[in-house]
Amino acid sequence: MSDFKKTGRKKNFKFKAELNQLLHLIVHSLYKHPEIFMRELISNASDALNKARFYELTKENILDPETELSIKINVNSKKKTFSIEDTGIGMTEEELVQNIGTVANSGTLNYIKQLQENGEKVDGDLIGKFGVGFYSIFMVADEVTVETRSADPDSKGFRWISDGQGSFSIEEIKKKTRGTKISFKLKKEHEEFSEDFRVISVLKKYSNFVDFPVYVNDKEENTVQALWRKNESELKEEELTEFYKFVSMDYNNPLGHLHLSMEGKVNFKALLFIPEKAPMNLFNDMNEKGLHLYSNRVFIEDAASEELLPEYLRFIKGVVDTEDLPLNVSRETTQHSPVMSKIKDIVTKKLLAMFEKWAKDDTAKYDIFYENFGQLFKTGINTDFTNRDKIMKLLRFVSTENVNGELVSLDEYVSRMNEDQKDIFYITGENRQIAERNPNLEYFRKNNIEVLFLTDPVDVFILPSLNEFDGKKLISIETSEIDISKNSDDSSEEKLNENALDSLITVFKETLGDKVKDVVESKRLVDSPATLVVDKDGMDPQMERMMRAMNQGQGPGMDQKKILEINSGHKLIKNLSTLNIANNNDIILKDSIFQLYESALLIDGNLKNPSEFIRRMTELMEKATGK
Ligand code: ADP
Repeated sequence: MSDFKKTGRKKNFKFKAELNQLLHLIVHSLYKHPEIFMRELISNASDALNKARFYELTKENILDPETELSIKINVNSKKKTFSIEDTGIGMTEEELVQNIGTVANSGTLNYIKQLQENGEKVDGDLIGKFGVGFYSIFMVADEVTVETRSADPDSKGFRWISDGQGSFSIEEIKKKTRGTKISFKLKKEHEEFSEDFRVISVLKKYSNFVDFPVYVNDKEENTVQALWRKNESELKEEELTEFYKFVSMDYNNPLGHLHLSMEGKVNFKALLFIPEKAPMNLFNDMNEKGLHLYSNRVFIEDAASEELLPEYLRFIKGVVDTEDLPLNVSRETTQHSPVMSKIKDIVTKKLLAMFEKWAKDDTAKYDIFYENFGQLFKTGINTDFTNRDKIMKLLRFVSTENVNGELVSLDEYVSRMNEDQKDIFYITGENRQIAERNPNLEYFRKNNIEVLFLTDPVDVFILPSLNEFDGKKLISIETSEIDISKNSDDSSEEKLNENALDSLITVFKETLGDKVKDVVESKRLVDSPATLVVDKDGMDPQMERMMRAMNQGQGPGMDQKKILEINSGHKLIKNLSTLNIANNNDIILKDSIFQLYESALLIDGNLKNPSEFIRRMTELMEKATGK
């Protein structure tokens, strides 16, 4: 099947051990979608052609400068063969060994294994993401031949042959033209891919917008068109979806798209997509590719998100094509180009405007976006000072008002605020259920004051930037400084008189010593006897819990002292006062004070030594039951 004569000795290589396992996994997990091999090969050929186009612009000498940049697929239904040939950048001998003898990403195998162990699906689109696409070829072929010559005029041709069973051979060949040809005979069960109608239908499905002509048995079959250069009204839903899948390597449809055509201070066109689903690790996405940069239709790079998007929008996929970059642009110079930062500013503003529109006109869509990307998106208020107000308006929270977990915006909160309410209140916590049990909520619940639950782990990190909205302060209900002026004091609960209370507070202070910063009468408690609050400049309790979890309780900021508030209308506090008046050294009084303090710590999530707490409780129960 080969067109090229061998000229040197054949060398044999073994695949890396992991690659064997990976091949096995690929062949066995992708068997339902054998046609994926075509998409992978076309996408590799298209990458190689993009690189050649770039090379032509930036280097003086290239092999075959006049050759058409194209992809040729040849199938033979009698011989059951398939070949794909490109006039792209080609590979040197080292590149052959490196690129298709090793796994590009060493974490890939572990990752896939882990997915399988967790019973999750390993599908074709996952495979493409991790740079192992080439191997999907072994689903349909028993033996594969790759013949290639690098675009460097001094290069030589090489042939790579492998049966995908652990080893490959490389030999030098005579090949006049640059580029790569991959050929093989189809396995019996996949002979359909030697029929041109079948091949054409797969091509139309996956790769119709490849920016180079694709010939099948010498007939041009794809409609070459840079989608982002069309008018918005010409864009078809289906086209957009396939294009999205092509650039992002995502399996799902996009949630939405943004088409930009900007002229003025900076000129560019962009077709951007918001994925529907967040990657497994949003903050450390393995797939950084997906925002492609073109300079006047010439592909520059496929991982341009760092230069073109602020960190909190790095999940956006698509294409940016600008005429304003110098033609000899290199990947290094784009990073410092003022053109790039102008595009970044505009793209950011336009995306935020689109989210605003979704939030207003299509809340269901916005909620899906926020659910998937909110965690990363909201960190924008820490980093993007220019757009901070817009991002604030786009934040969503769980709140006491929304029992079914619907999300509320700060605008909604403000619109429902009580007349005499000056601040916006929130409480942090591990989750809503835990936060709901916090005694510090009692006052707010009783007085129908809405409180936001900040239960996302990211929330504590954005708190410092979340200090104000619409001229109103955001205040934690766990601080001592909140304004509890509207105390709906239903005098049904008689409170301790001042003297008794002062005396009891003194005993509390003596007993607890430097465990607490202060002991005061509470205005916020309704049903609970005591609670802990931090003073105005103290660390948020959720931050404290997280720091403790991270540092095992060591280090700065640990053991911050809090203010213990006691509820002078509570039966237990009144009982303690009676004990106190009789004998302020009563052992039950002291034990109860410790117990109250530690119970508050326990609810606060910051009790470090439960065994002491349990021992004391057992003792108290013993006394209560022993009479
Ligand atoms: P990925 O394309 O995701 O990196 P592949 O396994 O498909 O992973 O390909 C591995 C590498 O082999 C590519 O990154 C590229 O360097 C090289 N390669 C594959 N096909 C070609 C081709 N047609 N021309 C030049 N290089 C290629």
